[in-house]
Amino acid sequence: MLSSTDTIAALATPVGTSAIAVIRTSGPDTPRLMQEIFGTTPLPRVATRADFAGRDGGLLDDVLFTFFQGPRSYTGEDSLEISCHGNPFIAQKILEDLLARGCRPAEPGEFTQRAFLHGQMDLSQAEAVMDLIHARSEKALLAANQQLRGSLGRQMKDLIDGLLQVLARVEAYIDFPDEDLPPEDRALVAGELHRLSHETDRLLATTHYGELLRDGIKTVIIGAPNVGKSSLLNRLVGSERALVSPEPGTTRDFIEERILVGPHCLRIIDTAGLNPSPAPLEKLGMMKTIERAREADLFLFVFDPTQPFPSFPLELLDIVKPSKSINIMNKSDLAEKIPPYPALIGSVPLSVSALTGQGFDELIAAIVQRAESFQKASGIDDIAINSRHAHALVQAREYLQQAQSKLALNEPVELLASDLRGVLTAYGEISGKVDNEQMLDALFSTFCIGK
Ligand code: GDP
Repeated sequence: MLSSTDTIAALATPVGTSAIAVIRTSGPDTPRLMQEIFGTTPLPRVATRADFAGRDGGLLDDVLFTFFQGPRSYTGEDSLEISCHGNPFIAQKILEDLLARGCRPAEPGEFTQRAFLHGQMDLSQAEAVMDLIHARSEKALLAANQQLRGSLGRQMKDLIDGLLQVLARVEAYIDFPDEDLPPEDRALVAGELHRLSHETDRLLATTHYGELLRDGIKTVIIGAPNVGKSSLLNRLVGSERALVSPEPGTTRDFIEERILVGPHCLRIIDTAGLNPSPAPLEKLGMMKTIERAREADLFLFVFDPTQPFPSFPLELLDIVKPSKSINIMNKSDLAEKIPPYPALIGSVPLSVSALTGQGFDELIAAIVQRAESFQKASGIDDIAINSRHAHALVQAREYLQQAQSKLALNEPVELLASDLRGVLTAYGEISGKVDNEQMLDALFSTFCIGK
């Protein structure tokens, strides 16, 4: 296990004026720093009030400090948290003082990297810390908390345990080149490989939901010009973010907002109107709309029932599948009843008024229902993997398939064992049981400083 030789320090709260700011250290110099600065080493985990005087003796602030003795600390090392008044100038002076006393400025994510290297958490839990910091919805928070508490780690441990049993069974025959795997062992190995493939696929099926959780559900508002797309977005956002104008074709560039709809986060994009005979500038906007539509998870397809049914570029109708779209009849305050053309658009539309808010409760319920269906489609309740996990699982699946075909073709056990070791390495990458410093550095550098 790694033992750090240097002590790192960083501001753990954002730069700015606030009630308090927190500065953290971690590493072997922590007890010395406390002695030098505060003249005492208090009981671990007990907050102590003290004056913080700089090295030149000048009083900087009245602070609260807490000593966390390794290994019972976030990083697993001796560490110190100093809460000072939330003035960025004071926080900076305290940080500079700690650096002058021998600390090194922490790299982004270095506290969590040390926690991982000291075995305080596996890699999937370290990533969950990031997910927790960035969670934008209740669902994202729930998934991050479950991963932080080891949901993915436990699942991977189960797969790795099963794999190790298979590997042990197979490797036992490597020393006896003339012997084949006996039929009962073959059946056991085949059965376990089948289970591992199935579980790997189940985890991989959560990739898309993981993206939706971390990024928000990409929701594109489309419709003819002037049907009320921007007004709809505004009412959903609850502010006047998009430009609303009685002139058709004003939304040429995209307006994007992240909004919370129930426990889900939507990345909602307002697009240019889909005019069948557009002016040149509008045409550009429409092409961009089609591009954005290709990436959408969900469409809010808006109609104005006071107008004749519009025609749309065929290319777009190809992309806006009824299964992905919620059809909306806006301006219900003007229309007496919904005209007959909705039959053309696949599903019964919701009648709303962006002007009065009528029908918005039903619209929000419909959006939540769609969002829930993404979670159900992922198949597993408490896990939503990220792209790094997906990459490792795809590799694991390839090795598993190779192993399964070698087993079926009765190829030498050495070759089978080699594929199984490939699976093991790929599984190991998820919880971080790999010797790949580059991969770890790249991962932790995406964290913020002080975390
Ligand atoms: P967009 O081009 O589709 O984004 O449409 P806008 O949101 O700019 O709205 C076009 C016009 O329709 C504006 O004059 C809006 O005030 C009006 N409008 C939008 N929604 C409604 C609605 O629900 N009822 C009524 N009566 N007018 C609306």
